[in-house]
Amino acid sequence: MMPHKKYDKVLVINSGSSSLKFMIFSMINETMLAKGMVERIGDEANLVYSRNGEKKTEQLVTAENHGKALVVVCKMLIDKERGVLKSLKDVQAIGHRVVHGGESFKSSVLVTEDVKTSIKACNDLAPLHNPANLDGIIACETVFPGVPNVAVFDTAFHQSMPKHAYMYAIPQEYYTEYGVRKYGFHGTSHKFVAQAAANYFKKPLEELNLITCHMGNGASITAIEKGKVLDTSMGLTPLPGLIMGTRSGDIDPALIFFLARKGFSIDEIDDALNTKSGLKAVNGLDGNGDMRDTVHAAEMGKAAAINAINMFAHRAALYIGGYYTLLGGADAIIFTGGIGENSAPARKAITSRLEAIGCTLDEKKNASCFGVQQLIATEDSKTPVLVIPTNEELMISRETYKLLTDTAIPAKKK
Ligand code: ADP
Repeated sequence: MMPHKKYDKVLVINSGSSSLKFMIFSMINETMLAKGMVERIGDEANLVYSRNGEKKTEQLVTAENHGKALVVVCKMLIDKERGVLKSLKDVQAIGHRVVHGGESFKSSVLVTEDVKTSIKACNDLAPLHNPANLDGIIACETVFPGVPNVAVFDTAFHQSMPKHAYMYAIPQEYYTEYGVRKYGFHGTSHKFVAQAAANYFKKPLEELNLITCHMGNGASITAIEKGKVLDTSMGLTPLPGLIMGTRSGDIDPALIFFLARKGFSIDEIDDALNTKSGLKAVNGLDGNGDMRDTVHAAEMGKAAAINAINMFAHRAALYIGGYYTLLGGADAIIFTGGIGENSAPARKAITSRLEAIGCTLDEKKNASCFGVQQLIATEDSKTPVLVIPTNEELMISRETYKLLTDTAIPAKKK
């Protein structure tokens, strides 16, 4: 496909409650030109910035809101010394990460007034994320009038999941009234690594069955059957499934009533399960849920850290084994995210529990694999195991570029 010059420069925005992260790509050869973020928006804001291949710099800036933060970013992008653009007119399209698209969005969309209303309608499902994502879109509409904005949803890929996987066996009015069902998250990452695996095997994604393990501070595993999601470990919220940095993952849901009856408030329980649980709660490291530190402590012989890694690996293997069965076998198991890409001990702890489904780790390859695409199973392993670094921003810029080059944009009404 000939690159489409009209949409060559794509700005990717990930707008959080107090931060605005950005990356800018040239899509002709998919090169990242610059990246950074404004953090602590509203307070003493800080701009972190680097051009591709250069060291990052930091400087204090004034940014009371997302709009002002974007203006700060723009100034840097066109800075004579350190910028990457001649003028802001060079920005031809903007891709936005939006966490929750509910059932309204099964793929990426061009932002319109209706789309913004639908994103707002999902605020209930992602109260910390969606309003901030929308702030980022509105800031871009003001700073870049006439430039198309595309929303790319964390939940969209998982909308291909079958009903028997996404419904909860609870009174159905919770679904019809409030949209209570499994949505799944990290969809952009799962889709990115699945496509990269298809490239690796030189086969269309529609001919492969894959199990993708996105393991960062948040972690989820997805079963992908011929390009469609068969199941995923997160749910209505990102709390269930795997043991994460600070989230519990699966628990007995009755634990919540048990604790409520002991006098804990709903907010206290919410906070405990989302921010005080996971590795942080069990590794004996004084409230630090970092996997690298957990592995280090385990290597020093700390019993709690050893147990934490065993708990993490046991839960992950439970999902992978279940998904392998549901898929009727897998063409590959893929590790990605900070832990999946970099932690050889965590990968080893998981795959050592997967012998029954044909995973034989190549210990040497595994031990030397950090942040690069690599087969880490032996050549004759029945089930290949791959590390594939994720790149959610590149995926967002690809989705943006693809949507705009596949669609004729209607002219703006004057
Ligand atoms: P987030 O979900 O916040 O984007 P990341 O994908 O950056 O998180 O993953 C963070 C996790 O990855 C942490 O637990 C961290 O310890 C782990 N990690 C990052 N680098 C390494 C490494 N070299 N070895 C082991 N674990 C690592």
